[in-house]
Amino acid sequence: MSAQTVVSLGGVSKEFGKGGVVALQDVDLEIGPGEFVSLIGPSGCGKSTLLRIVGDLIQPSTGNVVVNGKSAHQARVDRDYGIVFQDAVLFDWRTVARNIGLPLELAGWNREKRRGRVQEMLELVELTGFESHHPWQLSGGMQQRVSIARALSFDPPLLLMDEPFGALDEMTRERLNLELLRIWQASGSTVVFVTHSISEAVFLSTRVVVMSPRPGRITGIVDVDLPQPRSFRTREEPRFAELVRDVRRALRRGGGFEAEEDDHEEERLIVAEEGL
Ligand code: ADP
Ligand code: MG
Repeated sequence: MSAQTVVSLGGVSKEFGKGGVVALQDVDLEIGPGEFVSLIGPSGCGKSTLLRIVGDLIQPSTGNVVVNGKSAHQARVDRDYGIVFQDAVLFDWRTVARNIGLPLELAGWNREKRRGRVQEMLELVELTGFESHHPWQLSGGMQQRVSIARALSFDPPLLLMDEPFGALDEMTRERLNLELLRIWQASGSTVVFVTHSISEAVFLSTRVVVMSPRPGRITGIVDVDLPQPRSFRTREEPRFAELVRDVRRALRRGGGFEAEEDDHEEERLIVAEEGL
């Protein structure tokens, strides 16, 4: 493991109950600072389990997890993580501002300091003016932006995201993808992102980690050499379609070709392969 490693997994396996489901088997992975790594694979292949192990929410059965040079547990104690789940886990009785400021409250920041930071976060996710709203007054996309702002509020070096946009419509999702990339570049944090959408993984990532089901293993890694910053145009580049194809082939090789395909993926592939 180099000094520059943010996440280092060595021989990580997870069995749920003795003789039970082997959710992960022998996973090795190193993630460097500033990377945007997606974990992709069909439902049940262990993506969430792997993310939860990195985030110290569950323990591996065997293997080593090192985060920022220390144990995952110590990393959690040190607030090295921001975590965003599929459904924005917001507190309905708290305003947007007080949801975003919750981790800062828990960390003992005073009111003044909190207020300044929350304003910055609202700007970052383009929700200025909504600070006094309650979560139920917001759309799903806005709620998800609040949970991203909350996760980023204490400037965590590592952002863990488990299908954060899975429940949103395609257009909102594409817009939030761009927003997330802008935030990622502005904050300089490292992101581990779980998805089962091939095109989302390629669009967002610097690297796509392909997983196979039963037992969950890493069966391929695709480096995404699309230029930064990505834009609406990125999805139309021939290279994008090639990388989508590479990920799809890696999934097929791993026996896990059930990942979600977007509506235009096939067409993009034909365009790329026919050189249209
Ligand atoms: P994914 O996120 O890729 O859909 P998961 O990591 O949620 O997959 O699950 C991987 C496997 O582990 C599945 O077979 C799932 O049923 C099983 N599993 C996940 N969590 C538990 C748990 N707490 N107890 C028992 N089995 C679990
Ligand atoms: Mg999952």
